[in-house]
Amino acid sequence: MTNPTSTRILVKERTEHGGVALHERPLRPMGPQDVLVRVHRAAICGTDLHVYEWNDWAARNYRLPIPMGHELGGEVVATGELVTGLEPGMRVSAETHIACGHCRQCRANRRHTCLNLKLFSKQGLGCFSDHTVVPASALRRVPDDLPFRDASIMEPLGVGVRAAMEADLRGRNALVVGCGPIGLFTIAAARALGAARVIAADLHAYRRDLAARMGADAVIDPVATPLVQAAAEASGGEGIDAAIDASGNGRAIQDALSCLVPGGALILAGMPSAPVALDLAKDVIVREAQIRGIFGRLIDETWLATESLLRSGRLKVEPVLTHSFPLERFEEAFELAESGAAGKVMFEMA
Ligand SMILES: [Zn+2]
Ligand SMILES: [Zn+2]
Repeated sequence: MTNPTSTRILVKERTEHGGVALHERPLRPMGPQDVLVRVHRAAICGTDLHVYEWNDWAARNYRLPIPMGHELGGEVVATGELVTGLEPGMRVSAETHIACGHCRQCRANRRHTCLNLKLFSKQGLGCFSDHTVVPASALRRVPDDLPFRDASIMEPLGVGVRAAMEADLRGRNALVVGCGPIGLFTIAAARALGAARVIAADLHAYRRDLAARMGADAVIDPVATPLVQAAAEASGGEGIDAAIDASGNGRAIQDALSCLVPGGALILAGMPSAPVALDLAKDVIVREAQIRGIFGRLIDETWLATESLLRSGRLKVEPVLTHSFPLERFEEAFELAESGAAGKVMFEMA
């Protein structure tokens, strides 16, 4: 069988809401370090929604036209001559953070904060397609028994796993603020990694329901009851040892910090769109709180932990994976994802 030379692919073309088209396009020629991947599943990320919507952030960060998609579960079809460790038939997922491998951060085993970091979504690669050609350095091999569906969400799931690991939730009370896909994955990871209680908060009823189905012990509507009060009650009066923000909302971050017990930790995984004011004297210094930002996954430690947790059956992600569409129904898929009345929305290729 000869390898395909073209693919159907979703391309963001115009600077308007939507402005996306499904095309048949020639595949990028394979370089010596490239891999041809057959995409089986590809998931819509918050980043894709910014690009679809074409908000200020997208306009600042992307040039059109750009092929869309970076969260994939696929299969290696062919490899460039210098690629090692990947062979046709192997299953792969993709790491959004493509590291250079030789800067001081990379050499200090911090490839996820590489000084020359390239983002998959800005490289013109795309995976909302039947096939894609990507650099081998962006791929992570996953076991043959891991479903393509699971492989396609390992990148955002890894953020949840890492957040739960950095917060060291064993035997402690965790608060997850924001129950979009990353927050929901964090709930699952907190459960799998032995948190005593997992308390979740979100403004949307649909997402609170998903949080409960992910195994949250208590789910808070911060409009009905102020977060600090509701979290204290839900923890049985013990308080919150670690809060993980997956909302990026300034007010939610301030409240999450106020929920912590003295010596507690706030892990920031959501990305605020503007500076956030914090009361450092009251909430951080006197109460010896720790604040920690996390950006992506540890390469490859988080990938390996995520893989083990998925294969063990301890990390239950099923309820997040709410919708799947064929590529040609992309408008429906994006609109559903934008509405917030969905967990993870993905494309399933034929
Ligand atoms: Zn993503
Ligand atoms: Zn580097």
